[in-house]
Amino acid sequence: MKITVLGSGSAYGTPMILNRWDGSDASDSRNRRLRASLFLEDEGKNLLVDAGPDLREQINRENINDFNAVFITHAHYDHIGGIPELPRACKLLGHKIDIYASAATLEEIRQCYAYLFSGSGEPDSGSLNWHVLTDEPADIGGLKMDVFFVPHHHMQSCGFRYKNFAYVTDWQDLPAAAAKKIDGTELLLAECNNGMQPSANGHSSWPEIAPRLTGLNLQQIVLTHLAARVDYQTFQNQLPPNVRVAYDRMVINI
Ligand SMILES: [Zn+2]
Ligand SMILES: [Zn+2]
Repeated sequence: MKITVLGSGSAYGTPMILNRWDGSDASDSRNRRLRASLFLEDEGKNLLVDAGPDLREQINRENINDFNAVFITHAHYDHIGGIPELPRACKLLGHKIDIYASAATLEEIRQCYAYLFSGSGEPDSGSLNWHVLTDEPADIGGLKMDVFFVPHHHMQSCGFRYKNFAYVTDWQDLPAAAAKKIDGTELLLAECNNGMQPSANGHSSWPEIAPRLTGLNLQQIVLTHLAARVDYQTFQNQLPPNVRVAYDRMVINI
């Protein structure tokens, strides 16, 4: 399986608007981060995870010329800001796209983008097949996944395990049911928005994540969804050997 990090940035990217780097070294290209997203390829199938406001740039940059399914973790702007681009992608591709999200997330998407659902013409969501995610195992774009939920602010974010890979973003805790599904993976790609600094904002930091993962059998951990204040090299220097900091365009084969 091939995993491409399309974006390793937090909600505001790095640099943030107004070209603010907030402490990250602007001369290190690994600090230039689009909003968090990944592209998973396996067994001739693929899955786009989240469709944030940088979606068009990410798809074009990686020369992705076809995709069939999109997994939406939750309904914050940095994860759904690119959804209105998808009807146009369907039109250009000549086929429908399957979108998977929890019932609560789908409802928020409908409220955010009511015009997509009005049936009054392009762009409309008629070319998108909407599927409701639960915490039951699911066939997602032809890939058999184990889905789980984690708390994030007032909402829940949806993570998944696929074979020996697990992804969780935008989390402030790890419920036992989610930990059980992550356990035993070769690779955990996890949000660590705040780096080494304590979080009080619905996200995670490494000092908070490490104890949550104690006792789980994980070969390697890659940390993503990083705030601008988290400098790549400074953060990497403070982590154990099996923990790496993600950067845009990072490719991991497992
Ligand atoms: Zn986010
Ligand atoms: Zn979020």
